[in-house]
Amino acid sequence: MTEPLTGIRVLIVEDHADTRDMLQQSLTAEGAVVIAAATARDALVDIPNADVVVTDLAMPNNDGIWLLNEINALLRPVPVIVMSGFHESQHAQLRAAPFIRKLLKPVEPRDLSRVIREVLRGVTVRSEQSVLLLGLLKPESEGLCIECVSVLLRCSPAESLKATKELISNGYAIGERGPCARCFENRLVTCLRRSWWKL
Ligand SMILES: [Zn+2]
Repeated sequence: MTEPLTGIRVLIVEDHADTRDMLQQSLTAEGAVVIAAATARDALVDIPNADVVVTDLAMPNNDGIWLLNEINALLRPVPVIVMSGFHESQHAQLRAAPFIRKLLKPVEPRDLSRVIREVLRGVTVRSEQSVLLLGLLKPESEGLCIECVSVLLRCSPAESLKATKELISNGYAIGERGPCARCFENRLVTCLRRSWWKL
């Protein structure tokens, strides 16, 4: 029988060594390939090698929200699950941050494993069109309107809308009104979710 997380690459970002080791051991026992980082900055280099990131919220220097923004600014963001000692109702920044899942500490390894599977099931059902659309969206440029997406992907407007909705519901993109990067019309456009966390 294969383990529930066989082959899944999980990047754990946690400054407390005991918690980090415990999560690393339990996820490894479930078959995951675990990379562990003690700081958000150290984690950055490993993001291309991860299918999912599990990060602590409160860490010295750069916290989990900083890491989320760095990841969402990438051309290929990966889903980020946050673990926090606060409920989001107690923490406005946490409430506003687009983590794919927010877990209250202490996190049971069994629960974390289940949440990772749920998140990746959601991500892996992404259609071919939404993967292509993700590749088209550039962090530094304006978004693309539905019509231009269908031209660029050579698909129908309905398929283009479906791909757009999939990226938005998975936290990769946002819809906003603005000039389209291709046709320059002021329309509802899809943008890669970038650091809209302005200080
Ligand atoms: Zn357009």
